Amino acid sequence: MSAFLRFEPMIESKEFPEGMHPLGSEEFTFKCHPGVSCFTVCCKNVELDLYPYDIIRLKKRLAIDSETFMRAHTELKKGANPYFPTVILKLVSAGQVRQCPFLTEQGCTVYEDRPTACRTYPLERAVDRNVERGLPKEFYFLTNHDYCKGHFEAQQNSVKQWIRSQHLEQYNQMNDRWAEVDTLFSSNPWKGEGSGGPTQQLAFMVCYDIDRFKEFTKVQRLLDHYRLNREQKKRIAGDDTKLLKFGFEWLKDILGGRSELIKK
Ligand code: SF4
Ligand code: SF4
Repeated sequence: MSAFLRFEPMIESKEFPEGMHPLGSEEFTFKCHPGVSCFTVCCKNVELDLYPYDIIRLKKRLAIDSETFMRAHTELKKGANPYFPTVILKLVSAGQVRQCPFLTEQGCTVYEDRPTACRTYPLERAVDRNVERGLPKEFYFLTNHDYCKGHFEAQQNSVKQWIRSQHLEQYNQMNDRWAEVDTLFSSNPWKGEGSGGPTQQLAFMVCYDIDRFKEFTKVQRLLDHYRLNREQKKRIAGDDTKLLKFGFEWLKDILGGRSELIKK
């Protein structure tokens, strides 16, 4: 379950990392279930990136607010984007190992809301987000870790079946929106403030602290600055996912990106 998404633009198949070939319509054998000898191995000593939509799902699952979730369960690291931190899951100690805080002997306790990386595995998703080439194009690769015995199970899967069975559609949709914003962040749009400055902190709040952003939206009457009808405003104010989508568009607007929002 240590799969990851890649958001780098990859234009031609010859640019895929060496040894990695996109799956296309090819099938792959894989099944993960409590009977495999490696059950839960992949939830230990893992480095797991968390995306903004992952946070919304997990904090709702745990019935805590986003700030509490971020403090309790995440860490920041320097990732691929030099101008914005990467958020990773904070592991907990269990004997000799460090493991996911949501893991028990019975398995994953947040299964229906598990993060993108866990549900995408054993696939990895890459998105060609080169805007000049039109709509983003997605590619899937098969990972194969020695410890993972799921590959020896007989179940045949196509990529399409995998996406459907793991309920990845909503995650992919939200992660593609996040990828656009992350691309904008990688252009260092912080207006000379540098990393950690007020604008970047604001952006971090939008992406990773949705409950605080909800409050901010209310206090600043942010929705009133854009052409949104009463129904749209109500939907955004009452739904974290819609608020996150609005937040992404708002960030694009204030940071000089191409936003769907229209100012009044
Ligand atoms: S969220 Fe669930 S599936 Fe993912 S690492 Fe944690 S226990 Fe494993
Ligand atoms: S089969 Fe693979 S994904 Fe499933 S528990 Fe084992 S290591 Fe994890």
